[in-house]
Amino acid sequence: MTCKRCRSDRQSVFNGEMAIHFRGLNGLDKPIVWVFQEIGVCLNCGFTEFTVPERELQTLLQGYPVKGAVALPTGWPQRQDASELD
Ligand SMILES: [Zn+2]
Repeated sequence: MTCKRCRSDRQSVFNGEMAIHFRGLNGLDKPIVWVFQEIGVCLNCGFTEFTVPERELQTLLQGYPVKGAVALPTGWPQRQDASELD
């Protein structure tokens, strides 16, 4: 297999864990989506490829966790109401 970025054939496959966050301040109220996939890494330039599984992809599309997806819930960490701080 040849790297799409630098055309090197020095690539290897690893097991990966990735937490995908929504961007910006609004992203703080959206789930953090965990993906556990094999990743292909170019050992020449670092270009990396992986595929987001369907459930996790739906979570990214909809902005809230779908059943069976590995995602921290919306609004995590939980916010405390002012009444809980006393
Ligand atoms: Zn490369």
